[in-house]
Amino acid sequence: MSSNKIPVFDGHNDTLLKLEIEAGTRKERSFFKRTEQGHIDLPRAREGGFAGGLFAMFVPSNIHQDFTRPFNPSDPANYAEISQAEALGFTLRMAARAQRLERESDGGFTLCRSVADIERAMAEDSVAAVLHIEGAEAIDTDFNALEVLHAAGLRSLGPVWSRKNAFADGVPMAFPSSPDTGPGLTDAGRALVRACNDLRILVDLSHITEKGFWDVAETSRHPLVASHSNAHALCQNARNLTDRQLDAIRESNGLVGVNFHVAFLREDGRHDRTTPLETIVRHAAYLVERLGEDRVGLGSDFDGCMVPADLGDSSGLQKLVQAFRDAGFGENLVEKLSYRNWLRVLSHTQN
Ligand SMILES: [Zn+2]
Repeated sequence: MSSNKIPVFDGHNDTLLKLEIEAGTRKERSFFKRTEQGHIDLPRAREGGFAGGLFAMFVPSNIHQDFTRPFNPSDPANYAEISQAEALGFTLRMAARAQRLERESDGGFTLCRSVADIERAMAEDSVAAVLHIEGAEAIDTDFNALEVLHAAGLRSLGPVWSRKNAFADGVPMAFPSSPDTGPGLTDAGRALVRACNDLRILVDLSHITEKGFWDVAETSRHPLVASHSNAHALCQNARNLTDRQLDAIRESNGLVGVNFHVAFLREDGRHDRTTPLETIVRHAAYLVERLGEDRVGLGSDFDGCMVPADLGDSSGLQKLVQAFRDAGFGENLVEKLSYRNWLRVLSHTQN
C-alpha cells in the first residue's frame, strides 16, 4: 500500500448514539481509548485517516430499551413514533456529549460550523465533526429547537428516519423494494426544508420515501444530498436511490455518500460480513458514472451498521482507498471521493 494516507471526511456515523446508549452499561467505552468495539474512536480514526464527518444525533424509538441487546431490524417496536419532548431530551444528551468530547479532547476533536472550520481542523489533525440530525422528531413545528440546535452547531438534518414523523414518511429497510413506499413531505415538512435553507442547514435525503424525495427537490433551494445511500440498480433495497433520483441529484449539483452497510451494498441484500470491499467500489463506480466525479462521497454508517470484515472499522479506511486505486480510480478522483466532494457540497449549502 502506498504510504500517503488520504484523509476521509465521511457523510454519516452513529458514534454519538453508541457512546450515549453504552454509557453506564458494561459496554461503556471512551472515545479517546482504542477498543475493538464499534467502528470509531480517536485512535482508530487517526490510524485509518478518518478526518471527520457528519456525526448523527439519532433518537431510537424506545429510548428506554436494553441497548446491550443487538438491534433487531424486524421488531416493529424499533419503528414506533416518538414524542417531540422525548426526542428533544435525548438529542440534547447527544449534543451535550459532543460539546464535552470537544472540550476533553485536547484538540483532537473539533465541532465544526463551516467548511473553513473543517479545513482548519483537518490541517491540525483534529477530527472535524459536523452535527447532524437523523429524523427530525426533536424539532417542534415552530422551529424553536431548530434555531437553538443551529446555534449549538447543527449544520445538517434529515427530516425523517425509517419511521413516520410530523414532517415526512421514511422508507423501511425493505428488500427487494422500490423506495416509493408511502407519502412524502407534510406541510410542516415543507416548512422545515425552507427553515433549513434559511439557516444553511443541509437537508439530507437518506431514509426518505421517493415521494418525499421529489417534494424536497421541488421545495429546497440547495443541492440534493443523500448522505448514506447506495445505487438501487445494484442493490434493490428501499434505502437506495433509483436512477431517476440520481439524475435529479446530478442536476442539482448535489452528492451521494456511499453507505458501507452490507445489506445496502449486496445484490442479494443479505447481512453478510464477508462482502468484499470491491462491492463498495462497484457502487462508487456506478455513482460516479451516473453523477459525475464531483458528486460522490462516502457515508460509512460507522457505528450504525454491518461493514465488510475486510474493512473492519475506521482504522481500515485506507484499505478502501487502496481498493479504489486498484480499481483504476486516479489519485484526483480518490481524493474527491474521500473528502473533497463533501467539502464542495457543504460549501454550496453554506452560501
Ligand atoms: Zn441511517
